[in-house]
This record gives sequence, structure tokens and C-alpha cells, in this order.
Amino acid sequence: MIRRLQDRVALVTGASRGIGLGIAKKLAQEGAHLAFTYKSSAEAALNLQQELVALGVQAKAYASDASDYLQAEQLIESVLADFGHLDIVVNNAGITRDQLLLRMTEAQWDEVLDNNLKSVFNICKHAVKPMMKARSGSIINLSSVVGRSGNAGQSNYSASKAGVIAFTQSLAKELGSRNIRCNAIAPGFILTEMTGQLDAAVAEEWNKRIPLGRAGTVEEVAEVVAFLASDAASYVSGQCWNVCGGMQSS
Ligand code: NAP
Repeated sequence: MIRRLQDRVALVTGASRGIGLGIAKKLAQEGAHLAFTYKSSAEAALNLQQELVALGVQAKAYASDASDYLQAEQLIESVLADFGHLDIVVNNAGITRDQLLLRMTEAQWDEVLDNNLKSVFNICKHAVKPMMKARSGSIINLSSVVGRSGNAGQSNYSASKAGVIAFTQSLAKELGSRNIRCNAIAPGFILTEMTGQLDAAVAEEWNKRIPLGRAGTVEEVAEVVAFLASDAASYVSGQCWNVCGGMQSS
């Protein structure tokens, strides 16, 4: 098998579970060395570290809250000290605190914006410096289809994910001259703990709205991330790609 990311160094935020875990495994299978973060799932993170090392790559888990500016700065310093350079950044960490606007608290708004949007700023702000020096890099940010369409009960989440798309497009324009590509992915309904919180009736409604008739898997999202991270996507930047079974086409 051709390993598309042989000896690249990738950082994935929030890889202890769900989509981030799938992305970390896929990038390692493609030959990348993996730095990844988690917030509280220390045991799961350690298990993943061992699993990645068994694939023959260097791997290290970092407890680091992506919503915290100083922790993000320290994280990038540690990754550079441990791995030597940084080629790929996947901003995956994210949360939901769903509520209709009338009932949404200021804390629920702030928490989602800090974890989903400020986190992307925090990590990129520090990660682009070594990439600019190296004149090379690929950044992939996890948005969501609701960042394009909006969703009742998710005004905080949808706004954060719309912000991720605009941030991504802006970085692509700022950093293209340094050979740094920046893209976003907008997953639809993917089976993880995040969507596992939905009740069965809501999940069934989602499935009905998906032309492919089913939820997506973390592996299906990870495939697209691996492509965008690789040289095969060398002329793709400033895009947001839906990975949603046809649910949304723009
Ligand atoms: P998940 O199963 O809830 O996992 C979230 C991951 O992010 C966990 O590893 C968690 O770490 C980590 N995390 C959360 N906040 C963090 C922080 N501040 N700093 C560092 N790590 C943090 O979520 P998921 O479904 O895989 O979603 C992953 C990304 O895809 C999110 O950005 C989400 O918005 C986006 N997305 C998901 C779907 C979907 O259908 N699942 C659809 C569209 C977009 P701990 O385990 O330590 O808590």
C-alpha cells in the first residue's frame, strides 16, 4: 500500500473518541506520526497512543484544552520539541450544548463558541508559525453541515461552525503564498458519542433526510481528511467539503 503521509507530523485535537479517533488512526495508517489531544479521557487517549505506536509511527497524547489560548501555545511548543516539525493540523475538538434560544444560557453560548471556534484560532495562531517557516502545511478544520444551513436548537453550535468556515477561507487567502493549504470539512450525521445523545426519533428523522439513507461513519470522514492532508490535494485550498451522504449540496 502507498502510504500517502509517510513521515509527516500531524496534530489532531480531540482524538480520544469519535471522529478525531478515526482521523488519528487513518493518518497513522498513511504513515504520519501523530500528536493528538484530549480534554478528560486520559485512559482512552493512552490506549490510542499504544494502538498508533503499534502501527509503527511515533505517537503521543497530550492533555490540552483547545479552548485555552495558553494551553494551545504550550501544546504547539511541546509538539515541536517532541516531533521536530509540524506538517498537518486537524482541528477536530468540539462540543454541543443544544437548546432553543429562549432557554439558552450565556454559559451555553460561550462554552460552545470557545470550544468550537476560539479553539481553532488558538491552535492555528501558534501552529502556522512553524509552517510558514517551512513554507509548507495543511490545516483541516471540522465544521458541520449546520454551519451552512443552521438548525433549530443549535444556534450556538451552528454559529460556531459557520465561523469555522469563514476562518478557514480567510486563512487560505492569508497563507496560500506560503504554500499552506487550509480546508474545512462539514460532516452531516456521523455515528459518534456526540450524536449518540440524540433520542431515537430524532436520529430516525435525520436518516430520512439523508439521500444515502444512513448515518456516516468516522472512517468515511477520516478518508476525506487524509486526502486533504496529502499531496494529492495540492491544489485544494479554501474549500469546505460536505461529507453528509448527499443531505446538503452547497
Ligand atoms: P465526540 O464524540 O463528542 O468527541 C469529541 C472529542 O473532542 C473528544 O475526544 C473530546 O475529548 C474532545 N474535546 C472536546 N472539547 C475539547 C477541548 N476543549 N480540547 C480538547 N479536546 C476536546 O465528538 P465527534 O462527534 O467525534 O465530533 C468531532 C468533531 O466533528 C466536532 O468538532 C464536531 O462538532 C464535528 N461534527 C460531528 C458530527 C457528528 O455527526 N458526530 C457532525 C458534524 C460535525 P474528551 O474525550 O477528553 O472529552
